[in-house]
Amino acid sequence: METPETAGKCVLIVEDNPLNMKLFSAMVAAQGFGVLQATDGPRGLDLAHREHPDLMIVDVNLPGMSGLEVTHTLKADDDTRDIAIIVTTAYGMQRDDEAIRTSGCDGFMAKPITVTEFVELIGSLMARSAREPRYVRRLIEATTKGA
Ligand code: MN
Repeated sequence: METPETAGKCVLIVEDNPLNMKLFSAMVAAQGFGVLQATDGPRGLDLAHREHPDLMIVDVNLPGMSGLEVTHTLKADDDTRDIAIIVTTAYGMQRDDEAIRTSGCDGFMAKPITVTEFVELIGSLMARSAREPRYVRRLIEATTKGA
């Protein structure tokens, strides 16, 4: 359901498994956010640049380019580093894995995900982006960089 807190906010899901894509999309929509979808790394990167979502849910194991590479690339770019990124994986990686920690992601979810964890993580990252609107964060970053 869309509320003043969720209005106009959108989540880009980058996931190659159709069932996970369906599940994540339904849960994001149920929280009142818009949904964008990409099924491989390069398309996810392209859509992130074109649409600038508030948050991304990125699978690690993707065709074309890994989700960690996608995350690293977006976090290294001034235009996209403010997009919150949750990395997900089912392939035995854990949240303390070096590769996940150093990717620059803002959160991690192991699949199969639990609905409670999913809703809480997305809610808290979206609340953070509401407290610090994108233009304010960009202004802070620009100011800090110039100092
Ligand atoms: Mn995958």
